[in-house]
Amino acid sequence: MPKAPKTRSPSKTVALTYLNTVLPTYAPGATGSKSNRILEPDWVDIQKALDVLGRSDATDASSSHPAPIMPPEPKIEHCVRCHREYDINSHGREARCQIPHVFGEDGQLWGPDIRRYEPECCDDGGYVLEEDAGNGDYKLKGNAKRPCITHKHTTDPEKVEYNDCNVVECSPGPDGKCELEWLKMKDMFDTPAFTCNVYC
Ligand SMILES: [Zn+2]
Ligand SMILES: [Zn+2]
Ligand SMILES: [Zn+2]
Ligand SMILES: [Zn+2]
Repeated sequence: MPKAPKTRSPSKTVALTYLNTVLPTYAPGATGSKSNRILEPDWVDIQKALDVLGRSDATDASSSHPAPIMPPEPKIEHCVRCHREYDINSHGREARCQIPHVFGEDGQLWGPDIRRYEPECCDDGGYVLEEDAGNGDYKLKGNAKRPCITHKHTTDPEKVEYNDCNVVECSPGPDGKCELEWLKMKDMFDTPAFTCNVYC
């Protein structure tokens, strides 16, 4: 009589699914969305998953130990502050709601062939220098390199202080989904956000 194929216990499937989800985010190059170092909360969950996969099936079947707590399935929401789609169970960088400073497009002459742009969102946003004005060769100075806003993502507009500058209300398209694209902090170093081009 042929043996019935061994079935994977559900917790192993969950562990595998988790590893398949989290490990590619650390892939080198553009596909990986995280820094090369594994974030501490992720590492805790990765170890739990490896632990589950490492158990023998016999132990698994007859185990009197409770199953380890596995990270829940991803649940994606839209943040009404930064307009990023985020997993409500995410940790670390992805859980942070960050919005860069936005600068006025009318710069002041700041030296021979240098223009200086001031933040429009707040008084503490550093400034941006543009060499050979019009060439788009920007240098972010002081707080310009840091986010203007750092919060936790939210789906509740009541929790958001909108300012019509860099914190703006959702703009739903024909399908009812917000069409605004979140401003990635790391994209701002080459081309900072200006009032004329932000969220358009
Ligand atoms: Zn957010
Ligand atoms: Zn600001
Ligand atoms: Zn606030
Ligand atoms: Zn939105």
